[in-house]
Amino acid sequence: MNIFTEIDPIRAIRWDDPSLSWGLVPTMGFLHEGHLSLVRHARQENDRVGVSIFVNPSQFNESSDLEAYPRDLERDLALLRQEGADLVWTPTPEVVYPTYYQTYIEVEEMTTPLEGAARPGHFRGVATVVAKLFNVFQPHRAYFGQKDAQQVAVIKRMGEDLNFNLEIVACPTVRDKDGLALSSRNVNLSPEARQQAVCLYQALLVAQSAIEAEERSVSQIKEQMQATIEQNELAKIDYISLANAETLQELTQLTNDSVLISLAVFVGGVRLIDNMVIAN
Ligand code: AMP
Repeated sequence: MNIFTEIDPIRAIRWDDPSLSWGLVPTMGFLHEGHLSLVRHARQENDRVGVSIFVNPSQFNESSDLEAYPRDLERDLALLRQEGADLVWTPTPEVVYPTYYQTYIEVEEMTTPLEGAARPGHFRGVATVVAKLFNVFQPHRAYFGQKDAQQVAVIKRMGEDLNFNLEIVACPTVRDKDGLALSSRNVNLSPEARQQAVCLYQALLVAQSAIEAEERSVSQIKEQMQATIEQNELAKIDYISLANAETLQELTQLTNDSVLISLAVFVGGVRLIDNMVIAN
């Protein structure tokens, strides 16, 4: 497995044999089974797998959040070696954003609700760094987790709008035994908060059952989700949303289009997100 901080050696290995297909898995490190599932998908569908590990400062709107982000590069590299990754890029912020850097990508309407509303500037940072990763690796396919549903939708939009010549692949959310979506942030949960954190998934299941039982009123579904979460004293709802799965426009009544049910909840002060897509 080759590991580099600079761009030139990444490009050299990527183009060593132009006949090989490449899959790219962008990450911020502190890897868990969710990330590794993306590496496995990439491994299955490509000759070579590239992984980036970069805690991207431009997607954090609070410097305390950036500083608190967990990191363990040695462990990450050992896991990637086991999974058979071929090439790992671990740039420093100076490599990605050198002095005089001033180019950013704005995906418009669909970045304003949900995570975009809670974290202003977040998707500008995400879209910019992902575009740079696409240009550095020039992969045939790039793998993203459905766990970050708005991120996948935004990257797909950007890929189409800017004519990136690659396929964007969304992979299913990997969960702990009780249903909590794996996240690098879960290490920040106290034991009690960890127990209560399952309420996000429980709320999604409640919504799914309601829709299966022909409930069409979005406010009714949201009320049931809210009641499920509020049974947990450490949980504080940031948002609950039912939106068109492609455009992310908020719904008041369910239609025949696929619906993205998503939510963000602070549990013991740790902000967690989860979602489910219900195809109609
Ligand atoms: P991050 O390191 O948090 O930026 O995540 C890197 C990639 O892993 C993103 O595409 C995430 O959506 C994906 N990912 C994170 N958690 C999970 C999970 N539990 N299941 C599947 N993919 C995930």
